[in-house]
Amino acid sequence: MLYNVAQLMKSPVGTSLEYDIDEENVQLDAELQVTGPVTGHVRLRRINQGLLADGWVDLALERECTRCLKQFELQMHVPFEERFYPTMDVITGAPQLPPDDGEDAFPIDDHHQVDITETVRQHVLLEIPMVTLCKEDCAGLCSQCGKDLNEGPCNCQPEVDSRLSVLQTLLQKQETNN
Ligand SMILES: [Zn+2]
Ligand SMILES: [Zn+2]
Repeated sequence: MLYNVAQLMKSPVGTSLEYDIDEENVQLDAELQVTGPVTGHVRLRRINQGLLADGWVDLALERECTRCLKQFELQMHVPFEERFYPTMDVITGAPQLPPDDGEDAFPIDDHHQVDITETVRQHVLLEIPMVTLCKEDCAGLCSQCGKDLNEGPCNCQPEVDSRLSVLQTLLQKQETNN
């Protein structure tokens, strides 16, 4: 997801370029397995100190269901926004320092290219929910025999709450003492 912005950097503030995103085989992260293409839209806009890239991506990630541990495809719609700053003057080639408030911005590389892959990766990471379910009403696994309860009930007895079972034992002792 690489864009040449040499012309844009020579353009007046407010000028923008827009691109549709449609990329196969995107590698985001060893932990983030993208299945299928990444589609979306990006707008690159000239701002005072560089560029503002904003847009969104739609993608599917291979995730494990938190309840039943099955692998499934998590569909995601991820908006993003990021600032990029030039590391050299686009006309003179003179090196440029990052802006004072540029600590959360990315550099535009020496070939006047902007790569939004890292931006997308960070935004995807933030958007992944803590709990990912293969379906909203996933029944999960039986805590005793491990059977996938989405495939039907198992033969386990419902577990007695451990605090209750202590009470049960106490009551039984009392009965034998009497
Ligand atoms: Zn599940
Ligand atoms: Zn069971």
